[in-house]
Amino acid sequence: MKEIILIKDGELALKGLNRKNFENTLISNIKRRLKSLGEVKIENLQSTITIEPIEENYDFEEALERVKLIFGIAAFSRACVCEKTVEDIYSKAPIYLKDTLEAVKTFKVEAKRADKSFPLTSPEICREVGGLLLKNYPHLKVDVHNPDVTVVVEVRDRYAFIRAGQIHGAGGLPVGTAGRASILISGGIDSPVAAWTMAKRGLVLNAIHFASPPYTSVRAEQKVKTLLSKVARYSGVINLSIVPFTEIQEEIGKNCPEDYFTLIMRRIMMRIAERISRNQGSLALITGESLGQVASQTLPAIAETDSVVTMPVLRPLIGMDKEEIIRISKEIDTFETSILPYEDCCTVFTPKHPKTKPKPGQCEIAEQGLLMEELIERAISNTVHTYID
Ligand code: ATP
Ligand code: MG
Repeated sequence: MKEIILIKDGELALKGLNRKNFENTLISNIKRRLKSLGEVKIENLQSTITIEPIEENYDFEEALERVKLIFGIAAFSRACVCEKTVEDIYSKAPIYLKDTLEAVKTFKVEAKRADKSFPLTSPEICREVGGLLLKNYPHLKVDVHNPDVTVVVEVRDRYAFIRAGQIHGAGGLPVGTAGRASILISGGIDSPVAAWTMAKRGLVLNAIHFASPPYTSVRAEQKVKTLLSKVARYSGVINLSIVPFTEIQEEIGKNCPEDYFTLIMRRIMMRIAERISRNQGSLALITGESLGQVASQTLPAIAETDSVVTMPVLRPLIGMDKEEIIRISKEIDTFETSILPYEDCCTVFTPKHPKTKPKPGQCEIAEQGLLMEELIERAISNTVHTYID
């Protein structure tokens, strides 16, 4: 019996050229993700994408696991392919659904008939297939309101499909439909969630990490790579730039007022991130900031970090509570890695009383003791580039 994966794409609000772009990108993302599992035939008809394995012994379970993480997919299921005849549907339905139906007590049948020339109407399909399944599996009862499983028969233009229920997809837009942006990634809980959230809106991710050896360790860097590899399961490959930040932090420590350390550090991070991003064709910066979470995330502090760059700064977590952020980090499996106790450069030179309400112009004055341009150029030229997938 021929089995396929049936995919319903998301964002039905998209129309015209956007929709075409969405579908083409989604299909190439699916191809890329499934490539290592063997050859498949992918077709796209009426907002439904079908994936048909060509090879024997195709690892269906693994393919479903991968499909689950691809943005742009609203729902998916495995389905049995039938000829568009009543006979073929009747002969395959009881056999294909055997394991599923034996494991449940109640069911209902839904029918979708895209081809109006099919001899049975949708209600007739439901009644006939429902009756047939009851005859084959007498332990079953029909429950139209709250069934254990919903059997769906879809009659489309070339084939009919039978499936049992469907699984929620990752949602969002296909990665690559929204351009490229750079996530400033620390080893904390927030920034990987911010990265995932924006990849979900179709962005290809670059990542920038500031490291301050020997204050920060190789293990802290490895932690960032592990976090990114978890995000990359959804976003696809991520270019990572690791910026040496020790000298800059030491210079800030020597030449700036202590209550401005964190703010100035963050302003320099933004300046460097913007330049690296421009070189890489990335159009925005992304951070894991959430309003009021720490001293550098008050509105006056954010205004000071924003004012040194001209690129848009996306802060997808700005209105979220820590609990919501943690819930997502658990869902995307970054939480356990994030809470490993390795030091981040932000925690190395923390002032006792960081400024929460910097006055406009004060950061500029505090920065006067730094050879800003020289420090930035040196950090960028010693940046190490690698990629994570
Ligand atoms: P996170 O949990 O992401 O570390 P946080 O709540 O600890 O965030 P901060 O340490 O103030 O907040 O950092 C705010 C944001 O600045 C981070 O979400 C991240 O985008 C960026 N950031 C902080 N440290 C680094 C770093 N070492 N390298 C790159 N970006 C960083
Ligand atoms: Mg942090």
